[in-house]
Amino acid sequence: MNIRTRLTLLFMLLVASIMLLFTISVYYLYDQFRQQEFEQRLVEKALTTVRLREDVGEVPQNDLPVMADEQVTVYNSRGVILYNQYNQRPRFPISPDFLSKITLRHPQYARTGDLEAIGVRYINSRGESLFIVASANDRYGFSKLDRLREILFFGWLLSLFIVGIAGYLFATDALRPVAELITQVNAISATNIHERLRVGRQRDELADLARTFNDLLTRLEEAFVFQKSFVSHASHELRTPLTVMMGQIEVTRLQARSAHEYEVAFDALLDEVKSMIRLVNGLLELARASSDVVTLNYQPVRIDELLWQAQSLLVNKKPAYQIDIDFDNLPDQEEDLVINGEESLLQTAFQNLMENGCKYSSDQRVSVRIAFEAGQVQLTFSDNGYGIPASDLPHIFEPFYRSETTMTIKGHGIGLALTQRIIELHRGQIKVDSTVGVGTTFRITLPSSHRLLPIPSETRPTEEKSAKSYS
Ligand code: ADP
Repeated sequence: MNIRTRLTLLFMLLVASIMLLFTISVYYLYDQFRQQEFEQRLVEKALTTVRLREDVGEVPQNDLPVMADEQVTVYNSRGVILYNQYNQRPRFPISPDFLSKITLRHPQYARTGDLEAIGVRYINSRGESLFIVASANDRYGFSKLDRLREILFFGWLLSLFIVGIAGYLFATDALRPVAELITQVNAISATNIHERLRVGRQRDELADLARTFNDLLTRLEEAFVFQKSFVSHASHELRTPLTVMMGQIEVTRLQARSAHEYEVAFDALLDEVKSMIRLVNGLLELARASSDVVTLNYQPVRIDELLWQAQSLLVNKKPAYQIDIDFDNLPDQEEDLVINGEESLLQTAFQNLMENGCKYSSDQRVSVRIAFEAGQVQLTFSDNGYGIPASDLPHIFEPFYRSETTMTIKGHGIGLALTQRIIELHRGQIKVDSTVGVGTTFRITLPSSHRLLPIPSETRPTEEKSAKSYS
């Protein structure tokens, strides 16, 4: 059932119940009023009759009765009939109990079918106590009551019908902005993701919904544009070494070469292939780190050991690099050194920062410092290198972003994006300070394993543990 039908039915139900209550109250109150009025008439009739009988001695018999089936009967205190109007048998059955309940102040009312009776007590001039029962049929009052019932019932039905139509129109009108939103949302696809919903000047919930949806679209558009530029950057980065390699092969093939010349050409090609492998590995790692955490293999790892391993792997590859690792302060307990993480990814992140420190400084030196503070490990990677211009600082964590000042140094611009993603995966933070010509410092904060909440079981170790270090 759609909202419009539900709203209409709810509205009808509500109004119908209120009106039914009102209708029943009107009917009941009118019935009470009719009864009181008729009782009054019966009392007057009874008293008039008994007074005529007592004072005048006779009651005119040939008067036409004013009320339908009217009859007045006078009983003495023992219940014997002293007088009966029209000399007929009393139509209204009177029990001794009924007579006994009649007092001077409180006449008794009784009803059988449409016949209503009132019993009053009267003390005549001789001091005798008489009971007068006047009964009649309030045909006129009942027919008015019947008519009122019909009017109320059909009025209720008619108003129900009107309320149904009004409720439907009301619900349609209230939901029109929703229908408009749906039409607008349906019109937005990947090709026009820049379009936004019209919010209007209203300040209602639907305007809030449209605004929220627009915010979502903005985030999606950013991700979409980022994805597009990522693919084009990646293709460009892969095409460049391939073009270079093709050029080198074509030039080499132009004429017969000596064995040494071939060796040089192959070495150059090998360099390009290695560079491509680095890039592809970097992209794979980035994809892995950006994908679902389910595939990550978290386990307790000692941060200092990881740093030493990263240092030795890097120095093995580039012996000119100088990487100093030092403790700023010693941990209170050994567990402070342990963090819950994916060893190969952390290894990659540390190697990237160490390599950047050496790569972008003339002394090829980087200093790594470890500090411990209230359940977290702080690492700083400082170099006295070329530094990063302030205008580049907000972008260096974007994939493929490279500072103009260091374009001459080989790189793909993947390392920092990957490093940031890895640190975020470990619920850590990475920040950078840099001054051109002075040096750069990257600060990482990682929570110690005993501070971490337990990692959900579905994110626990899986078979996949194939991280290739991006270096
Ligand atoms: P790559 O080093 O392959 O270019 P990164 O993502 O590691 O890619 O770094 C992105 C850019 O950030 C680098 O091109 C460089 O301009 C700048 N950068 C990173 N680390 C440093 C550093 N320690 N000193 C100076 N510049 C740096």
